[in-house]
Amino acid sequence: MTQLVLQPCASQASKEHFLDTIATPVSWDSISEYLGPDARGFAPGEDLQLWGISPGNSQVQYNKLSVGDVAVFTANRQAFYMAKVSHVFENEGLASSLWGRDEKGRTWQYMYALSEGRYIDFNTSALNIALGYKANNNIQGFLVLDSAKSSGAIAELIAEPTAQPPTWISDSTTRKRSKKITPSISRVGIEDAIQQAKQIGRERFLEEAGAHKAFRYVVVDGQFEIDAKALIIWAHNKSHPEAKIDPSSFDGNRKTVAEPLRELGFFVDDLRADSLVDEAPMGDDPQKYVEIASSLIGSLDITRLTGQRREQGLIRGALGLKPSGSQQCGICGKVLPSGLLVAGHIKKRSECSPSERVDVTNIAMPVCLFGCDVLFERRYLTVVDGIIHVKLTGENAADEYLKSLEGKIAPGWTEARREYFDWHAAQPKTSL
Ligand SMILES: [Zn+2]
Repeated sequence: MTQLVLQPCASQASKEHFLDTIATPVSWDSISEYLGPDARGFAPGEDLQLWGISPGNSQVQYNKLSVGDVAVFTANRQAFYMAKVSHVFENEGLASSLWGRDEKGRTWQYMYALSEGRYIDFNTSALNIALGYKANNNIQGFLVLDSAKSSGAIAELIAEPTAQPPTWISDSTTRKRSKKITPSISRVGIEDAIQQAKQIGRERFLEEAGAHKAFRYVVVDGQFEIDAKALIIWAHNKSHPEAKIDPSSFDGNRKTVAEPLRELGFFVDDLRADSLVDEAPMGDDPQKYVEIASSLIGSLDITRLTGQRREQGLIRGALGLKPSGSQQCGICGKVLPSGLLVAGHIKKRSECSPSERVDVTNIAMPVCLFGCDVLFERRYLTVVDGIIHVKLTGENAADEYLKSLEGKIAPGWTEARREYFDWHAAQPKTSL
């Protein structure tokens, strides 16, 4: 009997995977080398839609998965895609070649393939009700539901008309993949490419590299920015004239473009990211941000929004505020996900000298959005010698919060930040 497979797909990584291997089916040629005995049942030559689960809690669910089940993908309170499970197989090599590995070194090796897929637009509250859950149930993690529980929901999903893909899919350019080419690049090679781009201008550089305008990743060098994929192709082809990359067969994505450049110490901005929380422009290592800050911050054009965003990105990185990580608020001490913290300047940015602005690990601290951020900025909270002082607002709820912090030690205070906190404490408070 048919089971319903609930596949949440809301995280950035899941969406990337969906774009890479479902919205854009994977060509047989590009993966056949990985399919040993697994190839049985696949028709050679056909393009495949593939998904995978990484080892962990979901394995129990994965073990229940069967060919013929109906998988439904959900994100942003919408079931947006449904398809039939056509193959169930484990293949670590294939998974890591398609999606890479996560920060723990795991890959999504518990795989399944899909067929007869189509986009739908079905509210998850309706889906919850059809499954006998509360309407506001949050679908978390991969779930395989038994056929008794599934049948009503499957009937409703099948009756659902085909819809347009959600905008995060339709807005992304289709990704073409073919034979895998691994470009080989060096720091010097990329620096040469940047010089060349500066000399001849962006349009001509793109022409020389044979690349299209970047829709996603650019390398930032002061006020100059240049398409990251084009840099890689140009640098590779210059140093390997005997084995040039054909730009149309080079799939530029985070793993092939952004990560190798970040690894070499370049600042790679994701133009598509909604916010700095989504992607760290130099990866996870705070030291890389500290190293580049002195050369980059002075030249960023912070009268432009992108300049401000990039300086914030550098400071966030230097403070260890990485996507999907957590950090401690420098005032109240709560440990919170990065998305609930900002990199708050201790001394106002506009008052900082050039050398203070590049003191990225000390000029700012992680501070929470639950109140510490604005109360510190308006100076209802100040910190002297590490101790929190407060000025009451006259508003009950705000004052209750302030009193709960009064006299406590602020974990964000350090000797190296002393002069910035003292500057802050000496300024008059502004009203809320
Ligand atoms: Zn806080």
